Amino acid sequence: FLGGKTAVVTGSNSGIGLGIAHELARAGADLVLNSFTDTPQDHALAESLAAEHGVKVRYIQADMSKGKECRALIEAAGACDILVNNAGIQHVAPIPDFPAERWDAIIAINLSSAFHTTAVALPMMRRAGWGRVINIASAHGLTASEYKSAYVAAKHGIVGLTKVTALETAKEPITCNAICPGYVLTPIVEKQIPDQMKTHNMSREDVIAKVMLQRQPSGQFATVEQMGGTAVFLCSPAAAQITGTTISVDGGWTAL
Ligand code: NAD
Repeated sequence: FLGGKTAVVTGSNSGIGLGIAHELARAGADLVLNSFTDTPQDHALAESLAAEHGVKVRYIQADMSKGKECRALIEAAGACDILVNNAGIQHVAPIPDFPAERWDAIIAINLSSAFHTTAVALPMMRRAGWGRVINIASAHGLTASEYKSAYVAAKHGIVGLTKVTALETAKEPITCNAICPGYVLTPIVEKQIPDQMKTHNMSREDVIAKVMLQRQPSGQFATVEQMGGTAVFLCSPAAAQITGTTISVDGGWTAL
């Protein structure tokens, strides 16, 4: 049902962004994939998604830490009916030791990029007469954990931006919502495991069970396919009156 629509998914050469891209393409959307790299694998990935789903897929390199490149990405896409602000990074350290440069990078990539892409995409959605903005926040957009100051601040920030975007488009056939995943076993989570092992003096298995999934009552990781399915739902007619809110896909994390 998304045939003829173009979806731009930031940070989509791996993990949740790639999972969402697959599900949007399965529903018929053409895609723009993105990351900050520009490798043969990035372009091969675009070709394989196009072949698998029979849609048009382009890969456009742009660094989401730079406002100008965020804006240029949407301009280069040419059309943006569905904008998924997904690019994100993490750094784990107590506040006194948290490198200021990492703080700035996390705020830029996880929060400010969505402001820049949305600013260029909304006029395009208005011209097209339909639009969906889907921000990938986190359970950490609604709750906090120690040692993740920048990430929690950025994710709470993107939930706020989601509400403002929804209010500014409320009278139009455009919606804006945030998906709040719990833990999904993607590269961003893999990279945290060694730090958490050090901080908590635990084995890999114990970090997964006692630190990560301890917060997730289901005791299971959520999956990238589930994030993709939620994004497709937000693009469906059933979701046309859902705007300015968060959808948690977190195995019960935020019910605790
Ligand atoms: P990931 O590391 O697999 O994916 C991150 C993506 O962002 C990659 O494609 C990477 O290339 C891209 N990226 C990083 N820096 C970029 C930059 N400067 N410019 C453009 N692209 C850049 O991790 P993921 O788990 O798939 O994370 C995707 C989103 O989901 C993030 O916003 C993350 O905060 C959020 N999230 C993840 C989890 C989880 O448990 N995995 C939970 C909640 C929220």
